Amino acid sequence: MNKRYSVDHAAMRDMNLTLILNTLHAKAPLSRAALAHITGLNKATVSSIVKDLLTNGLIRETGTNGTPVEVGRPAINLEPDPTAGYFIGVEIGVGFISIITVNFAIEIISHRYESTFTYYSQEKIIERLLFLLTESKQQVIKMQRPIFGIGIGVPGLVDIANGTLLFAPNLGWQDVPLRSLVETALNIPVYLANEANLAALGESVFGAGQGCKNMLYVSSGMGLGGGVILNGRLVEGATGFAGEVGHMLVERNGRRCNCGSHGCWETVAGQQALFRRVEEAITSGQSSWISSQIEADFNKLSIPLIVEAALKEDTVATNALQATAEWIGIGMASLMNVINPQRVILGGPMSAAHKQLLPIIRQTVTANSWHWVQDKVKIVPAAHGQDAAVMGGVAIVYRDVLNNPRKWLH
Ligand SMILES: [Zn+2]
Repeated sequence: MNKRYSVDHAAMRDMNLTLILNTLHAKAPLSRAALAHITGLNKATVSSIVKDLLTNGLIRETGTNGTPVEVGRPAINLEPDPTAGYFIGVEIGVGFISIITVNFAIEIISHRYESTFTYYSQEKIIERLLFLLTESKQQVIKMQRPIFGIGIGVPGLVDIANGTLLFAPNLGWQDVPLRSLVETALNIPVYLANEANLAALGESVFGAGQGCKNMLYVSSGMGLGGGVILNGRLVEGATGFAGEVGHMLVERNGRRCNCGSHGCWETVAGQQALFRRVEEAITSGQSSWISSQIEADFNKLSIPLIVEAALKEDTVATNALQATAEWIGIGMASLMNVINPQRVILGGPMSAAHKQLLPIIRQTVTANSWHWVQDKVKIVPAAHGQDAAVMGGVAIVYRDVLNNPRKWLH
């Protein structure tokens, strides 16, 4: 056997491993014969790869109807072993840390959400993050199972190659080598990405974008971010900054944005723009049910409060939501003409108002994008709501395990 042939043979075996593991994750329980039929691989290849996956504990045998195998059953099914290992998804947000631990069958084992408003400094927040992650790690270690990796989403620009958070305007953080900080402290592989990009991946793999190869995700909250999935892959761009849709210029000489520029989409379509519209209307003397709830303290404004007011047909809330939805729609229409997605997903805290926003967004998109781009597209709320980014943290590790299972085989 020459060297070239052996390399190709190993590469072929890795491709088949990936194919079988992906098929089991998508369609289990399946028998060996069904696996051969679906993948088009011959039975001997399937048997040999299944043996490898079983020996390494990534999959398990079950009975014909998903129950544990019993002696004398005719056909044995296979499925991913939920306890094969665990994924940890993390979001460091403005004022919170969210951590989710998920097993190999993508069942949630634990979910912790903590406010970080009391930890004023970057140092204290990272210290707390490491403490919470160590607790999550201990929980898995008790079960004597591995952690495949930790996927961390942050609200800013990320240098993916170096795992550094370059700039997070809404956190006030700059040049933080988060990947190495967490890897050194926990000794687990870490994947760092922009939170909206991760949320797009989370919705694509586990949520409202499942089955769509081309998808646009727009996350509206404290900032306005997004992620683009093209041909099933997250678009990272040349240096990893793709998807920063919130800083598209939509108004020449517009308001100053947190990024330092003026007239960004975020300044008219983000949560702060919605709050500003409510505040301006009330300050200018318009009467609103909201006034009775916040006692002139506009820091008490929240999306749920504005939604509640809109349900009471409060004009201030309705008008503010209308104007914000129109601006979201204008930006989406432009992006749809560029990307031609099958699905557009609205996520982030603002998705809590999707019942009020989406009808107006759809109207605005219809009026402002090409009809042949709109014809096949559905605009829908995120399936994982505020958990889209942590699910994306899980998805980035999960994708790596399923696409490179060799790394986890002995
Ligand atoms: Zn900006």
